[in-house]
Amino acid sequence: MKKLILFSLCLPLLSTVISGQVRIKKDNNKDTQKKETKKDAQSPPLKTETIFIPPMLNTKYDFSNVKICIDKSNNYDPGPRLSKAYPEIPKLNSNGQLEPQVIRQKLTAETNKMWPNESEITVAFAPNQTTNFVIEKVKQYAREWEKVANISFSFITDWKNAHVKVSFIKGGSWSWMGREVLNNPTEQTTMNFGWFDDNTPDNEFSRVVIHEFGHALGFIHEHQAAGARINWDVEKVYAYFAKINWSRDDVDRNIFNKYSQNSTNGSSYDKASIMHYFFPEGLTTDKSAFSNNTELSPLDKLYARVLYPFPPKPPPVTGVLNTGDDCDAIKFIVEYNVLPGNFIEFSLEPGVDNSGKVVIWWKQIGIPFKGGAENKDLQLLADGKTTRVTILREMIDETRGFSFAKAKFLGVHTGLGFTWKVWEALPGGCRVRFIWQNDHCY
Ligand SMILES: [Zn+2]
Repeated sequence: MKKLILFSLCLPLLSTVISGQVRIKKDNNKDTQKKETKKDAQSPPLKTETIFIPPMLNTKYDFSNVKICIDKSNNYDPGPRLSKAYPEIPKLNSNGQLEPQVIRQKLTAETNKMWPNESEITVAFAPNQTTNFVIEKVKQYAREWEKVANISFSFITDWKNAHVKVSFIKGGSWSWMGREVLNNPTEQTTMNFGWFDDNTPDNEFSRVVIHEFGHALGFIHEHQAAGARINWDVEKVYAYFAKINWSRDDVDRNIFNKYSQNSTNGSSYDKASIMHYFFPEGLTTDKSAFSNNTELSPLDKLYARVLYPFPPKPPPVTGVLNTGDDCDAIKFIVEYNVLPGNFIEFSLEPGVDNSGKVVIWWKQIGIPFKGGAENKDLQLLADGKTTRVTILREMIDETRGFSFAKAKFLGVHTGLGFTWKVWEALPGGCRVRFIWQNDHCY
């Protein structure tokens, strides 16, 4: 009866008892001994599957009946995270002037297991261990992170060179942490899914895949975060996990021990996090209930964006430039992050002046290029057609501004002696539209 209760509480989605067993070869590395836990006297006979676990990856459990994830760490410290910071884009006033810059507070603490922002993380699957259906489900739910974190997963067939190496050995589900996978000289599996098959429901794929790929991004178990507030009924927890053959030490390490505030960058404690275990009721002194989290929580999404930020996307800015000549009025509209980040697009469009007349005839806006040249393709001619120019952002000479010219008398083209130099506010990826709205005084 007790065993039945245990399974029904611990394994809410268990439909079949998994009989696979993970065998861990003992290594003679001296660091191994203190972490080796115990031989599970009640284990079923070992099957032939063998995972060689490198010296530091030696936490050993009987996973055979457990559908919770165990943190695996090779204790590799990849060093400080080199993260790309996005500078704040200075704001343009409606008169085309730069607004004074506002200083914003930046994130201070970052876990050093995280990837540099914008990383492309390669993932390979061990061949012939599962079905295409399961692999496609793993890809599908791993990509949930791409929607909320500025990283991408690239699924490749080259096991040797893949960062994340995924196996489907019956037993436990687990993952190494973030950039620990960079230290994997013997090309070991870094992530395992122990109970997926073609009958696995979608919410179980979602729950487990998002959780394990969360580890692969460096996210820790939320119930072990520095800010976790759980009033454990300690002896009941030990007793509960003893039924799946965890020692008190195992429970300490996987349940009670918290990460240091100094090495992590957690948000406030989030019981709904995909990185939180499900716990049955009765293990806390305040009778807390824990939900079975199968998708990213709102705080997961929020803080994934904070820790793996996307480029800032300010709202479009609009205003009017006055060249000071003949009451010229040139409307500008700047849209951000509408192109690949190394390009910038300009357009010159006809406007409608105060008398309702469409402003055409010969106008030109010059874009300064490095080396002294000027791109003069932005022209508004008698046909009134909009012209567009897309160029590499790096070609622009930021020491000079846009130049403006128009035909004033008998078709003589005249530079207007007005320049506009606000390159700080015109980063790569933006589109700058000029609409020449007025070209004479009334
Ligand atoms: Zn986990």
